[in-house]
Amino acid sequence: MNGHFAAIGNGPTAKQYDHGIQVIDEDKSFNTNLNDYLAETHVAESGFNYHLISVFGSQSTGKSTLLNHLFGTQFSVMSETERRQTTKGIWLSKNKKDRANGSPMADNILVMDVEGTDGRERGEDQDFERKSALFALATSEVLIVNIWEHQVGLYQGANMGLLKTVFEVNLQLFLKDRQSQTRSLLFFVIRDFVGNTPLENLRTTLITDLSKIWSSISKPQGLEDSKIEDYFDFAFSALPHKIYQPEKFVAEVDKLGARFTTGHRSTKDQEFVGGVFLPEYHRRIPADGLSVYAGGVWDQIVNNKDLDLPTQQELLAQFRCDEIAREVLVGFDTVIAPLEEQQAEAIRLGKPAAVLVDLGTTGAGAREKCIKAFETQASRYHKGVYTMKRGELESKIDTRLKALYQAQLTAAHKAGVAAFSEAVSGAVKAGQKAGGSYEFAEIVEKQKAKTLQVFKKEAQSLSIPGVAWSNFKPQYRLFEKELDEVSARLRKEEMRRLAIRVERWVKSRLGDAIGLEFNKLGSGRGGSVTAEGAEKLTTEKDLWDRVWKAFIDIVKEAEARFADRAKSFEASPEEVEVGLWRLRRKSWVALREKIDEEVMESNILMKLRENFEDKFRYDEDGVPRIWRPTDDIEGIYTKARESTLGLVPLLSRFRLSETYAPPDLPGFIGAQPAGVEPEDEEDLLPIGGIDEEEGKSLEEETTVLSESKRQDLVVRFKKMADGVYVEAKRSAIGGITQ
Ligand code: GDP
Ligand code: MG
Repeated sequence: MNGHFAAIGNGPTAKQYDHGIQVIDEDKSFNTNLNDYLAETHVAESGFNYHLISVFGSQSTGKSTLLNHLFGTQFSVMSETERRQTTKGIWLSKNKKDRANGSPMADNILVMDVEGTDGRERGEDQDFERKSALFALATSEVLIVNIWEHQVGLYQGANMGLLKTVFEVNLQLFLKDRQSQTRSLLFFVIRDFVGNTPLENLRTTLITDLSKIWSSISKPQGLEDSKIEDYFDFAFSALPHKIYQPEKFVAEVDKLGARFTTGHRSTKDQEFVGGVFLPEYHRRIPADGLSVYAGGVWDQIVNNKDLDLPTQQELLAQFRCDEIAREVLVGFDTVIAPLEEQQAEAIRLGKPAAVLVDLGTTGAGAREKCIKAFETQASRYHKGVYTMKRGELESKIDTRLKALYQAQLTAAHKAGVAAFSEAVSGAVKAGQKAGGSYEFAEIVEKQKAKTLQVFKKEAQSLSIPGVAWSNFKPQYRLFEKELDEVSARLRKEEMRRLAIRVERWVKSRLGDAIGLEFNKLGSGRGGSVTAEGAEKLTTEKDLWDRVWKAFIDIVKEAEARFADRAKSFEASPEEVEVGLWRLRRKSWVALREKIDEEVMESNILMKLRENFEDKFRYDEDGVPRIWRPTDDIEGIYTKARESTLGLVPLLSRFRLSETYAPPDLPGFIGAQPAGVEPEDEEDLLPIGGIDEEEGKSLEEETTVLSESKRQDLVVRFKKMADGVYVEAKRSAIGGITQ
C-alpha cells in the first residue's frame, strides 16, 4: 500500500491533500470529498475561472513525473527500481505553480492523473480505460496524451487503442449533446525526444495515424461524414529524456508550462493565440458544482448508463440551485424571521401588532440581497433550471414578505384609525374648552389628510418596484373608506352634542317664555268681572295660543341654529332632517315638562290664589278695597271665585282658542324621516297622537290636568278662597267697631 491512503486516513487536515485527492479509487468509487478539496484550495469559489486537464498514456511512461514537474504536484511516481504501477484510479490536484518560464500560468488549473493501462496489471480489461476516458472527456478541456517518441507511427500500439476509445466515447457524448459547441484539445507530449526526426514530421505522422483511427471507428447514424477536426484541436510538444538530459528536461518542461494559460482563436486565420485554454474547451460547470457534476457523471459511467451530459447538467443545476437557495435563505431568515416572530407574538397575545419600523427598507433589502446572492452563484448553471429555481425562490421570499407586509398594513390601518378618532375627539374637546368655536369639518379634513399621509407613506415604503403584489393601493383605499366611516360616526356624535346644546337652549328659552305666560295668570289689573274683566278673561283664554306661539317661535329659531351649524360640518341633508325631527320631538317633551312644572299643585294653587285675590281685593281701577259692612262682600267674592274657577278647565287642556282643539302636534313634528336609525330613537320619549303604537291619543297628550287633579285643585282653591272671604268679612266688621 502506498503512502497516500495512509495520509487520507489521518483525518481532515490540509496535509491529507498534499498529493491531491483520489477522485476515483481502484474500486471505481467516487470520492465525495472532492468538494472539500476544491473548497480547501479555493477553487470552489472561482466560478468558471478554473481549468481542468487530464493526462492519458500507457503505464509508466512518466505521466505523473511530467505533471509533477509541470504543476508542482506530488502525484506518486513509480520508483526506479520497482517497476510497478503506482497511479491507481484517478487523482486530481491543483496546480501549485504560479508561473512557468517567467510568465504567469492560468488561474486554478486542476490536473487529473489518470491510471494508465497497458494490459499488464489489469489484464485485458479495457473497461476502466473506457470509463476514465469518458470521465475525462466529460470534464476536461485539455487531454494530454503522453507518448514515447519511438511509439509514434506504431499504429497498432497501446496508445492508438486508447485514442480509438477516446474518439468513440466522444462521439457517444456528442450524440446526446449536439447543441453544445464544446471541443477538446488533444495535447501530444512526445517523451524521450531525441531530435533526429523533427517534431514537424512526428506531428504529420501522428495526424495521419489519428485520421486512420478516425476512419476506422464505426460512427453513429448521422455522423458518418464527420471529421476528427469537428471535435478536436491538436497540439504537440516534445521533451528530452529525463534521465539522460535532466537539466534540459527541466528547462523544456518549464517552457511547456508556459503554454498552460488562456488563449483564443485569431479572428483572422483561426490560429491559436496565447495559451492552450480556449473558452470553447471549457465545460461550463461552475467550480462549486464540479464535485456534484463529476460524481453524477461518474455514477452514470460506472453503472454503464448512457451518459447524457445535458441531463447531467440539468440535474446538477437543480441540485446546486436548491443548495444555493437554501444558503441564501439563511441570510434572509436572519433578518426576516425575528420580524415574523414579533408579529406572531402580538397575535398570540391578542395584542394589536405594532407597526415595525423601516420594514419596507429592511424587507426590500433582505429580498434584494437574497436574490442577488442567488443570481451570482446560480445563474452560472443551466439557464432553464436557474430561471425556474429563481422563480421558486422569489415566490418563497415573496410569500413571507407579503404576509409580513399585509400584517404591517393591518397594524398601520388599526393604528391609523385609532389615531384619527383620537385626534379628532381631542381637537373637538380643545375647541369646546376654548369656548366652542371650532369647525368640525375642518378638523376632520385636516386629521384625515394627516392620517392618510402616514398610511400612504407606509404603503409606499413597502412597495417594491416591479413587484406587482407590493402595490398596496387597494389597502390604501380600504383605509380611506374606513376613515370616512369613522368620520361619519364622529360627525354623528358631533351632531348629538350639537343637538344636546340646542335642546338645552330650547329648554332654557321655554322656561322663561312659558313661565312668563303662566305668571300672567296671577297678575290682574283689577281682576273683576266687568267689561275690563271680560277682556282679561280673553287674555286668560288665549293662554295656550300664546304658549303654542312662543313654543313654535323658539323651536323655529332652534331649528335654524341646528341646521346652520350641522351644515358647517358637512352633515348630509338626511342627517340634518333626522336631527331636526329629533329636536322638534324633544322640544315638545321639554314644553310638556315645563307645563307640568307650572301646573304642579303648589305652583298652580298660588297662581289661582293670586288671580282670585286680584279680582277680589282690588277694584276696577286697581285700588285695594277697604271692606265696609255695607259692601256686597259675598257678591264680589262669588264672582271673583267663579271667575278664577273658570280658569281650571282652561288650564286642564292644551286647546287653541280659535278651534277649541289641541294644536296640530303631528303636523308640527312631521313624519319620521327615512334616515332614522335605531340609535336615533333611543332617547326619545313616546308622544301621544304621534307614536300610535303607544296607545296614547293626542287628546291625552294635550291633557294638562287629569280629572281627579282638577277636582282636587278646585276643592283646595275653594278652601283657600273661603279663608280670604272670612278674613274680608272680619275686617269689614272690625272697621265698624273702630
Ligand atoms: P506513469 O506511470 O506514466 O505515471 O510513470 P511515472 O511518472 O510513475 O514514471 C515511471 C518511470 O519512468 C519512473 O521510474 C520514472 O523515473 C521514469 N521516467 C520519468 N520520466 C521519464 C522520462 O522522461 N524518460 C524516461 N525514460 N523515463 C522516465
Ligand atoms: Mg502515474
